[in-house]
Amino acid sequence: MSSFRNQYIDINKWTRPGIKNNGVKKLVVHYTANPGAPAANHYRYFGQTLPAQNRNLSEKKQTFASAHIFVDRTEAICIIPLNEVAYHANDVQQFVNGQPYRGVAALKPNANFLSIGVELCIEKNGTFHPDTIARAEQVCAELCKKFKLDPINDIVRHYDITHKICPAPWVSRSQGFTDFKAHVNKRMAGTVVTVPVLSNSTVTHTDAGRFIKNTVVAKDGLVLRTQRSAGSSMVLTLPNGTIVKYQLGSTVNGWGYIEYTNSKGQTFHGYVNVSYIKSDNELKSGAQKKAAAKPKTNNKPKFPLPDGVFKVTNPLIRGAAVKQIQTALAALYYYPDKGAPNNGIDGAYGPKTANAVKRFQLMNGLTADGIYGPKTKAKLETLMK
Ligand SMILES: [Zn+2]
Repeated sequence: MSSFRNQYIDINKWTRPGIKNNGVKKLVVHYTANPGAPAANHYRYFGQTLPAQNRNLSEKKQTFASAHIFVDRTEAICIIPLNEVAYHANDVQQFVNGQPYRGVAALKPNANFLSIGVELCIEKNGTFHPDTIARAEQVCAELCKKFKLDPINDIVRHYDITHKICPAPWVSRSQGFTDFKAHVNKRMAGTVVTVPVLSNSTVTHTDAGRFIKNTVVAKDGLVLRTQRSAGSSMVLTLPNGTIVKYQLGSTVNGWGYIEYTNSKGQTFHGYVNVSYIKSDNELKSGAQKKAAAKPKTNNKPKFPLPDGVFKVTNPLIRGAAVKQIQTALAALYYYPDKGAPNNGIDGAYGPKTANAVKRFQLMNGLTADGIYGPKTKAKLETLMK
């Protein structure tokens, strides 16, 4: 008996293109990022809701997304045949030497043609239920047998391919994913596996001490890690000015434990180099020191960006500042108007520029409102270093 049932959505260009894949080299695990929504909701979403939404949008605003199998506590549904492409792991999160980051060599150039996407539903509190994990282990064991894959090497996270923070519970705590693969391996050998219940999905951390709020990151791109070591896994990077909470007394060898909640309300834990985080008081005295120090010279960024807020207005905002924004976006492949003269870099903040900003924001975890402000500026600067 199969661990999942087939209930295919209809072919449509946004979620099930109906294209045959080129075989299955890896299984890619994801989380749905929809707290409390079961597998059946995702069958409806990718089969009906998303295609219906896309039909009313211009081409550039349409969303292309899907995965093959959705797993919750009580069932697993396969919504796209396993020999077809789903749109689950070819997104662009970061650029390295001008190219989109791609971390799993065997899946290059496009992971969607060489892998199966397995999505784990999350509970209302953002964690995986042990029954969901156990069912996903069964599904992956069955798929590994079917496609002759080795669970330890051939199950990867979405994060491993594009650096998307997915599945978030296993990016912030990679041990959960390591355990998952080991369990799949055991299940293939016929061993009975019980999935331990975790109280939360964060990094295991036992240091005592309360958290101090309003600790600010004073370095752009500060890396949050799973251990007190620069060699440990990265959870995410924090832009300059990010407010985090530092746990008092947690610093050992220069690494301290922090908590960070993003604009979507997702909370992450991990270790940072504490020389780059400052308490309110330290910042105040630091600012005085800075004022007395000589201003730095010769620190001109490659793509200067304006301060302030830019959005579509009537009449449109025009000028060199808008051109700087457009140029930076284009450098990251978010062209205001691809194919138009100068790819739409015209110094006017019109709907097409707002749309490029929106696409950039969507792919970078920001509120996708098409308005350029301090957060968008900071993200652009981080990515262009
Ligand atoms: Zn994913």
